[in-house]
Amino acid sequence: MNTSTKTALITGASRGIGRAIAERLAKDGFTVIVNYAGHAASAEDTVQAIVNQGGNAIAIQADVASEADVSRLFAQAKAINGQLDVVVHSAGIMPMAKITPAGITDFDKVIHTNLRGAFLVLANAAESVSDGGRIIALSTSVIAKSFPAYGPYIASKAGVEGLVHVLANELRGRNITVNAVAPGPTGTDLFFNGKSEEQINAIAKLAPLERIGEPDEIAGIVATLAGPDGSWVNSQVIRVNGGFA
Ligand code: NDP
Repeated sequence: MNTSTKTALITGASRGIGRAIAERLAKDGFTVIVNYAGHAASAEDTVQAIVNQGGNAIAIQADVASEADVSRLFAQAKAINGQLDVVVHSAGIMPMAKITPAGITDFDKVIHTNLRGAFLVLANAAESVSDGGRIIALSTSVIAKSFPAYGPYIASKAGVEGLVHVLANELRGRNITVNAVAPGPTGTDLFFNGKSEEQINAIAKLAPLERIGEPDEIAGIVATLAGPDGSWVNSQVIRVNGGFA
């Protein structure tokens, strides 16, 4: 795939892993759409960083869990170059809650954003991505750990992985690959928020490489899946975690 005239939409690209993916795909020659929910200044920062490096980018606000927002996001994204080649669904949240009656509020919230959001983004990607394109969703390596208080989040991401495998089958005949990338602990707001330094150090030691990952290390694998070297990888969950699980 020659990426020089291609367009990539990245959800949740104002910060963290999504931002690193947007910057990397822009470096690889894609025109990049930087989706975000509420942090407009962060999204503009991402766009500016890309433009400063000679890339093309535009920020578009949309709540991935809103049917109307996602449909508008895809229409606007497609209008930029007349086609959409790559969709990376990185937007997500991680509230912590034990499986107790009181946990239902966080369960509903994370299922709404992470699973309903993934369904809407993958559904619109299936309709909009050109034949030969790529669809990539972010899952998580913590699925294999089953840590206490990760129940709602793990449930949402297990659902995302299920959707990825089914969509790969539903797109048979269009030469579109659909994969998930499942990072281990990675240095972003989502990981750091609410954790003490001791907790962060303890989690960092879990992987044999004894550190947390960097957003760029996740972006590199996403770029491989989105580029020419990813052509034969389909319906897979790629765990990128330093051996964490
Ligand atoms: P961050 O919290 O750093 O960034 C989250 C991004 O998602 C922001 O751009 C935010 O936009 C956007 N977002 C949140 N909710 C919505 C919404 N409803 N609609 C649109 N955009 C939204 O998270 P990470 O970069 O760490 O996480 C990215 C993905 O990687 C997530 O799916 C996460 O589950 C997954 N992951 C992360 C790991 C980690 O350790 N960091 C490990 C494994 C998986 P805004 O700035 O506007 O709020």
